[in-house]
Amino acid sequence: MRIVFLGAPGSGKGTQSQRLVERHGIPQVSTGDLLRAHVREGTELGRRAKSVMDAGKLVDDATILGMVEERLARPDAARGFILDGFPRTIPQADGLDAMLAAIGQPLDVAILFNVDADKLIKRISGRRTCEGCGRVFNVHTSPPGTPPHCTQCGDQPRLVQRPDDDEEVVTRRLDVYNEQTRPLVDYYRARGLLREIDADADVDAVTRRIEQILQRRG
Ligand code: AMP
Repeated sequence: MRIVFLGAPGSGKGTQSQRLVERHGIPQVSTGDLLRAHVREGTELGRRAKSVMDAGKLVDDATILGMVEERLARPDAARGFILDGFPRTIPQADGLDAMLAAIGQPLDVAILFNVDADKLIKRISGRRTCEGCGRVFNVHTSPPGTPPHCTQCGDQPRLVQRPDDDEEVVTRRLDVYNEQTRPLVDYYRARGLLREIDADADVDAVTRRIEQILQRRG
């Protein structure tokens, strides 16, 4: 299955991607994670991207498309993938389309995660990531225990808050989503690929809704 997860920051795309990876054996391709890896490793791309990310703006389309093309060429993506946080602009969606058309493997579905705007800020402010394995938790909805710890790594890896998850940057990211990414809803609807889910439910219920959609397509 070749799947796009579409939705505002904090709508649960990352959490659900991580669950699907385990169930379906296809990789999560998160452009946010790929960029954060570049920042951590101090690559040239990472140095360019960091200030843009910290400001809550979008990294340029050419950089993102190059990064995705390289990632999708790896063997583990041959059976399918979940695109999480990509595409975020119409040119990125066109670029993806061209990339997949060239290998004769078009997208199967784009799933839109609907969550009320006023809930998103609370969700994002509660988000914590395991420094060990990258698993995402939420102190409001999936409490990582007392003291906070990663349920996957056990032991003591730190759970950290992303620098761009502070409230001011989050507000900008939501504006950017509405201006630049929301038009993709109509883009995929016009191509008959869009499915919508109410993502304002507990994590297991959202997973079940996604699985139902995938079963119908699969
Ligand atoms: P995310 O983890 O998906 O919320 O992404 C974190 C940040 O990385 C975003 O706020 C952007 O600055 C950048 N980013 C991630 N994916 C993209 C993309 N597809 N296009 C442009 N910028 C992106």
